[in-house]
Formats: sequence, C-alpha cells, structure tokens
Amino acid sequence: MRRIEGRLPLGAGAFEGVRLEIEGVHIVAVERLPMADPGLPIVSPGWIDLQCNGALGGDFSDPEADFDEVPSFLARNGVTGYLATVVTTAPESYPAVLARLRELDNIPGARFLGIHLEGPFLSPGHRGAHNPGWLMHPDRTKVELLAVEPVRMVTLAPELDGALEAISRLREMGVVPSAGHSGATYEEARDAFAAGLGAGTHLFNAMPPLHHREPGLAGALLESASPPSGLIADGIHLHPAMVRLAWRARGPDGLFPVTDAVPAVGLPPGEYSLSGQRIWVDVETARMEDGRLAGSLLTMDRAIANLAAWTGDLAGVLRAASETPARILGLSKRRGRLVPGLDADLVLFDDGLNVLETIVGGRTVHRR
Ligand code: ZN
Repeated sequence: MRRIEGRLPLGAGAFEGVRLEIEGVHIVAVERLPMADPGLPIVSPGWIDLQCNGALGGDFSDPEADFDEVPSFLARNGVTGYLATVVTTAPESYPAVLARLRELDNIPGARFLGIHLEGPFLSPGHRGAHNPGWLMHPDRTKVELLAVEPVRMVTLAPELDGALEAISRLREMGVVPSAGHSGATYEEARDAFAAGLGAGTHLFNAMPPLHHREPGLAGALLESASPPSGLIADGIHLHPAMVRLAWRARGPDGLFPVTDAVPAVGLPPGEYSLSGQRIWVDVETARMEDGRLAGSLLTMDRAIANLAAWTGDLAGVLRAASETPARILGLSKRRGRLVPGLDADLVLFDDGLNVLETIVGGRTVHRR
C-alpha cells in the first residue's frame, strides 16, 4: 500500500488537501482535507493524449520506426494513457502499421490505449499535412477493413459520401468517430452528431474559420450539446483568445487538450519526415515546404500550462485532460478521476506545471 498526499486545485488559485491510498493497481481510498500544505505536489488523474503521432523520431505511422522510447517520453510529460495516431498512409501499408503498433502494449511508460486513425477519410480541401494521393471516401468495406482492433478513434470528414453510414458503423464497432479535416457545413455537422459522432478533431484547425453566416463545423462544435473537441494549445495553432472563447462555450466537459505532436518532438530543430513527406522543425513549429503547419511540438505538460494560463481554470483544465478523454473512450469506470476502485493513473507536479512523478497502474513510471 502506498499513501500519497498532495493538493487539488479548487479555482481562483485555491487548493484543498488530498490523501490517496493505492493498493496494487487501484486507488483504494481518497480523503479530502480542508487545508493544503503548499509544499505538497498538485495531484491530478493521469493525462490522456488522444492525438499523439510519436516522439523522439519514433513515428507511429511508419511500420519500420523504432518507438520504444515514446511511452516513457510521454510519461515524463505527465501522460498516463495515449492513442497512437496514424496519419493518412498508403492503403497497402495500414495492415503492417497497425500490427506493429500492437507492440506498444508491452512497452513501459504511458499506457497504450489504442490507435487513432486520422484519415484517410478526409476532405482534400482541408487535408493539412495529409498526403492527398491517399485520401479516400469512407465506404463500408474500407471502414471495416481499416478500423480493426485496436483502433479506438477515427477522424473523418462528415460531408464525404458515405460518412454518415461510416459514423454509425464505427459506433457499432466500438470505435469513436471524430470530425476533422473537413469543410462540413453547420447542417452537415449536425447530421453527423445525430449519426453518433463522438468528438471533434483539433477544433478550428483544418476546418473553415468561424463565420457569422456560415458557422460550419467549428460553430457546430462550439454549441453546448455537441460532442467534445480536441484543442492544440501551443499558442501557434490557436490564438489564446479563441481558446478562451471555446472554453466559455464548452468548458472542461466539452474540450480536451491534445498535443498532435509530430514524431520529431523531443529532437533538435532540423528536417524530418512525416508519413513520407518532408517537414521542417524549428524551436516551436513543424511546417511543410509551403509553410503550412504539420502538427505541433507540444508536450502535454506545456499544453496544460498554456490552457491554465489562458483560462485561469487549472481545476477545469486538469479535468479536460483526464476525465473528458477517458469518457470519450468509454473508460470512465476505470480511469480519469480520483475515485476509489479506479486505476491508479496519476500525475504529481509543482506550481510551475513541472511533472514530478507519473504513476500508471500504481507503478511509478517517471520520477524527476
Ligand atoms: Zn490533423
């Protein structure tokens, strides 16, 4: 049995104390204390990154890549669970890529929660860094062929032919359909929500901008009963004022931070490849040859620090990074909250958002 004492943020810079007991892989007791010793670490349910393309050069979309160091890299940044994200790939490469990623189950560090297929069912007009030659329409056969175990999430453009049927089929298969890289109108987005859409992919990025006569997918995702959306909070993909606007509209139950980090995250600036295309990485951005952004260089601790600074709501941001993604994946009964009986996936950090310790299933996988 291990006992952890720490602080839980309440709001407006206030904290309460918390005492947790961990036995084996589970949290077995949680006691809240009115007083919080400021010397104790802040405690949060472990952060979950639903969109992570790799790290340290290990590219989840490349079946030849060496990604053994990625789960411990993520754990150093406070991530206890992640979806390995595969960008649009040559159709014939998917089986090898998916088979290879199953090996992540056995690599220590952050927990492999499955695969997020970002593509290939995307709009050519909003493809971002995805290879246009490999995009396709989501007919039933292709969806069933690609969204196999352990795929948990598929980003698709809901306006494509066959997309609504694909959304209901993915739901039946236990996969979360997420709208992104899309030029969907407000009405098309609403139809997709009704068909069972479970999330939005990097809100505002790779979709038409919010327009007062054409709310589009972004406008639809900002409404209160819509599925939650991922956000890339690096200060480059989104202006902090737009993040505040989205936060006021949706709050921590309707938004979740993702890194969407390119596999070169953690490496020095230079020229790298992303699914066979060249990208240029400097200290804060990853771009294609024509200057378009090609994913971020974010780590989850920085995403959370940015969101907390921009919204002033650390308690909410921590919930958005843990409880909300766990709920999207249907894992609320096991992860995402500090509740007895749930898995002991925790992150301890200081007031500067420096991760001090990351615990996955009751075991310390990172200690600073
Ligand atoms: Zn994307």
